[in-house]
Amino acid sequence: MTDVVVVGSYVQDQAWFVERFPRLGETLKAHRYNTGPGGKGFNQAVACLRQGVSTAFVGALGNDTFAEYAKKFVAEEKMPCRWQMHDDWPTATSSITINPKGENQIALVLGANEHLDVDFVRKQDDLFADAKAVLVQLENNLDAVDAALELGERHQLVRVMNPAPVHPQLPEKTLHRAQIVTPNETEFSLLLERFANETVDPNALATTDPATLHTLARKLGVETVVVTLGAGGCFVSHGHNRRGDDAAFYRIAGERVKAIDSTGAGDAFTGTLVAATIRLSGRPFREAVVHANRAAAMSTEIVGTAPAMQTFDAVLARFGD
Ligand code: ADP
Repeated sequence: MTDVVVVGSYVQDQAWFVERFPRLGETLKAHRYNTGPGGKGFNQAVACLRQGVSTAFVGALGNDTFAEYAKKFVAEEKMPCRWQMHDDWPTATSSITINPKGENQIALVLGANEHLDVDFVRKQDDLFADAKAVLVQLENNLDAVDAALELGERHQLVRVMNPAPVHPQLPEKTLHRAQIVTPNETEFSLLLERFANETVDPNALATTDPATLHTLARKLGVETVVVTLGAGGCFVSHGHNRRGDDAAFYRIAGERVKAIDSTGAGDAFTGTLVAATIRLSGRPFREAVVHANRAAAMSTEIVGTAPAMQTFDAVLARFGD
């Protein structure tokens, strides 16, 4: 029995810690190296699973060493996965260079993630048949993303899209198959530009009044829009279906934490939100959002992405009910 199906990306993150960024053409010795599992889809699946909700992951890997790493990690996490294995495309990797201020430069190859076959996704119908929600992001080829949401529609699942990174060719039809979207400030502004012909400054969103944000969010044509605002928390805008909330829109302040690495905070937020809507089913959506906002804040206190995801009880222990 699977409650949440995540169709998404796996990326082997590799980080080099340096005293300063190398200059053009320079070879610079790093003083620390770290590698770990990542990728928006995979991170969100781990976040959801660790919240105590049965979660299955559907993704693509190359036939290489990093694939072995991914399989070992999911065996330890006990997360059921359906991998499409590719001989012609590598497992995705990222090269992250981090300076002492915690600033980073990232180069990424999406490799096998961009070759997740639609047929392979459709063959996972049995997972969707008894699930409650499907969750997608935009690090895979768009036809696979659309196929996952279409299966979600067919099986009447709650369909959630973390529209990250915003894809310049994202079709409106695919966006509209989602019932909940969770863009960050940059992604929200890019979606507004593409689908509502609105130009907004992403840096101004955290200080924009909620009524204006709601008017903007409604232009996307998605039932529920949750905009994450980094340390500023998040903003929720509902259309007709308020998911048990009294208010059509509201803002939730960021939690005060000692953030040291906010990479993957958005993934912690979306994965936890989906899990919390299931754990707190029948309660107002707001409770799930508050919980996700807390779990995401806690994830910024730990280095790494997938390994920084929190359990349901850890969030309660830190913040109470
Ligand atoms: P992304 O990682 O996709 O850019 P955000 O930066 O908006 O996403 O962060 C997602 C969520 O993580 C926020 O809505 C908030 O709940 C939490 N968060 C991120 N940074 C902080 C921070 N410095 N302090 C507290 N919460 C944070």
